[in-house]
Amino acid sequence: MNTFLPFSKPTIDEATIASVADTLRSGWITSGPKVQEFEKQLSAYFGGRPVRTFNSGTCTMEIALRIAGIGAGDEVITTPISWVATANVILEVGATPVFADIDPVTRNIDLDKLEAAITKRTKAIIPVFLAGKPLDMDRLYAIATRHKLRVIEDAAQAIGSTWKGKPIGSFGDFVSFSFQANKNITTSEGGCLVLNNAAEATLAEKYRLQGVTRSGWDGIEVDVLGGKYNMTDIAAAIGLGQFSKLNDITAQRRKLARHYFTTLGKDFEKQTGAQLPPEDYENTNWHLFQIVLPDRITRADFMARMKDKNIGIGFHYAPIHLFKLYRALGFKEGMFPVAERVGRQIVSLPMFYAMNEGDVERVSVAMREVLAVSSNSH
Ligand SMILES: *Cc1c(COP(=O)(O)O)cnc(C)c1O
Repeated sequence: MNTFLPFSKPTIDEATIASVADTLRSGWITSGPKVQEFEKQLSAYFGGRPVRTFNSGTCTMEIALRIAGIGAGDEVITTPISWVATANVILEVGATPVFADIDPVTRNIDLDKLEAAITKRTKAIIPVFLAGKPLDMDRLYAIATRHKLRVIEDAAQAIGSTWKGKPIGSFGDFVSFSFQANKNITTSEGGCLVLNNAAEATLAEKYRLQGVTRSGWDGIEVDVLGGKYNMTDIAAAIGLGQFSKLNDITAQRRKLARHYFTTLGKDFEKQTGAQLPPEDYENTNWHLFQIVLPDRITRADFMARMKDKNIGIGFHYAPIHLFKLYRALGFKEGMFPVAERVGRQIVSLPMFYAMNEGDVERVSVAMREVLAVSSNSH
């Protein structure tokens, strides 16, 4: 009997566990030297740009919006196919979310539709790199520059991804990453924000901890409303251990993705009607390996039948504009047809560092069975 294969699973090595134990014994368990070291290493990786860590990826985006001065009356454009956090942060700061439909191939926001959605009130855009696949970053920033928009890259899934050889995060405007448990590297929960300059980094520190600035032994002042968003040294100790393996993790995921394409075979799309992701081993970190199912099988049915074969299937994401909270703002069915179809039929196949090629083969065989069609239907 084969064991259950989940769609995602973190791998924490023994050295990292030992480092967490040391941190717990050290007497310093909240933000301290480990956080500083983690921020230093991240900054070096992002080409020396300022980096601050937080207790989630969600709050990094909210804080970036606050630093950019975005609030009531401002419009922010994003994609309907993302984790709901991406749009929720726009509402959190009192701004108005605007969606633009996705590209059916990359499943990321369609840049033509994004540009068409810009109005005089548009102040920022939050592009998402679904599954870790970057957009055309040259075009993205050309649009942002032309319309004087701030960019908050939701790179939650894109650590290790690159554009023209440069890591995502090493260029651009604000870049937000998540270290939630399922992400390519994790701190259990956490995130980081890459910023443009020291002034923004100082503001990020204030928003991270109650708006407080300190000077000297007893000087304390509060001049903005901040929250409680700091990362602990326990989390940073996990992050440091994970980060030291980033290249390995990315390489392994690319190898597994390649094996999916090989084992599914060139005719998979034609034979099953399912759509594979774009085959990219250059830029994508393969955070997810997602396929869009043919309409003749429901996602629930597919997931149940794969579960019967002891294979876990993930689902990322339901279209944000169709959640009740967003329908109440006036969004409805039919507004973003590509997102709605992809959102109905998309699934995430098992993909994580500790998987091996045999696991990929198991998934491929199971999928061929579940998606089998009679030989004369094509
Ligand atoms: C994980 C994720 C987030 C949120 O990150 P948290 O760390 O869970 O707050 C936001 N956007 C996308 C695309 C994500 O995958």
